Amino acid sequence: MKEFLRKNIRELVPYSCARDEFTGTAEVYLDANENFYDYSDFGYNRYPDPLCKELRLEIEWKMNLPFDNTVIGNGSDELIDNLIRMFCEPNRDSILVMPPTYGAYKVFSDVNAVECKTLPLNEDFSIDLEGFLEISNSNKESINQCKVAFVCSPNNPTGESQSLQTIEDMASIFEGILVVDEAYAEFSDKESATTLVKKYDNLVVLKTFSKCWGLAGARLGIIVANKDLCELMNKVKAPYNVGIPAQKAGLDQLKFSDEILKDRDKVVQRREDYSLKFSSLDIVEKVYESDANFLLMKTKDSNKICNILQEKAIVIRNRTNDLNCKNCIRITIGSDEECQRVFKELSEIKL
Ligand code: PMP
Repeated sequence: MKEFLRKNIRELVPYSCARDEFTGTAEVYLDANENFYDYSDFGYNRYPDPLCKELRLEIEWKMNLPFDNTVIGNGSDELIDNLIRMFCEPNRDSILVMPPTYGAYKVFSDVNAVECKTLPLNEDFSIDLEGFLEISNSNKESINQCKVAFVCSPNNPTGESQSLQTIEDMASIFEGILVVDEAYAEFSDKESATTLVKKYDNLVVLKTFSKCWGLAGARLGIIVANKDLCELMNKVKAPYNVGIPAQKAGLDQLKFSDEILKDRDKVVQRREDYSLKFSSLDIVEKVYESDANFLLMKTKDSNKICNILQEKAIVIRNRTNDLNCKNCIRITIGSDEECQRVFKELSEIKL
């Protein structure tokens, strides 16, 4: 894995946080130029733990992700950006994405002046494994080597997820870092790729508190990777990237993990129910199978549908400009009332 790092990252001397050199509980903290008044009563006058240790211990316990194999980010978006910056030399290296997929990978590569190569998904939204093999074979000799490849599973916006075998095949042939974005994995039956990170040091799994765990507003993402890569990521990230309120929100949320997973089961059941209901509509040509908390469907006219719904103060996502998604809309599975309301409005549209 280290051979793929940028030279400056390999040689990086990380910022040393105020409390890095001291372990234990001090009686007087006058090392970080904080305000000694706590106006919040929550200790917000102090800097947070840069390594989110308490939260990571709870994550190990509740999510079964070993402490040494995790890094916490300000949402998984921050971690995507950091991965690109660690491995890709600007104006030379590239990343690989498989459209239609999550748009932020390309945005972060653009921000970092890193080319974004594409390997389109097949028309049924499965991965083009032969194409991936070809790219992998020529990757090392390529002048703009793909250092990081993103596989989103379940994929946003298609909902399709990959088998563990496919991920393993990809990790074993790819000369670069394979990132499996599992933002929606809790809604899928497929086994998580986190079980493979000990075997493949070039495999990184991204998780988030923003979907099933119900904390999009707190901004908490998780990297699951081998210990060396986690240590490197902790050196590269901004020292205090996750604030005390976010760390506390994560800890509080994990106390309700049983309830949250039961609610997840309800969302999955509702997804299946509404998949059938939406397919019965005249304006809907196809509802794609989904392993996530949303449904992608091909309609007769996605622009018109989105405009009509917007006039009724309902916001869904028009995906018509995504590759092979002409006239597709993406609808999140919300509460039963919200889904019923969208269904009613859709059933009244005549095109
Ligand atoms: N990955 C995927 C596939 C997503 O759909 C999203 C957000 N919609 C993210 C990552 C970013 O999530 P976060 O809120 O953790 O930054």
